[in-house]
Amino acid sequence: MTKSKSVFNTPLDRNYFKYKDRPKKKDEVEVTVCCNQSVDHEVANVNNEEDWESIQDYIERNLRDYTNTESITPISCKKCGRLIQYLSKLKDDKKHWR
Ligand SMILES: [Zn+2]
Repeated sequence: MTKSKSVFNTPLDRNYFKYKDRPKKKDEVEVTVCCNQSVDHEVANVNNEEDWESIQDYIERNLRDYTNTESITPISCKKCGRLIQYLSKLKDDKKHWR
């Protein structure tokens, strides 16, 4: 493979290094279709028992550390189970307000 000089003076990002040694396949996906998450990004999956344990640990820790948090919902993709974000519900208690 001949090196193209078009890479000079351009930002070298993760994809550049990812496809440096192997050309990108035409139908290769970078993000999941169901939840638009990067497939490279190693992320917890609620369908995975170990991940689910650590998700619960994380939430339990946060509930302990932040007393004004009432609950935390782990939002995950309904299709593939990828954890997308944690949604915190704060206590509706004025004395916690600053
Ligand atoms: Zn998904």
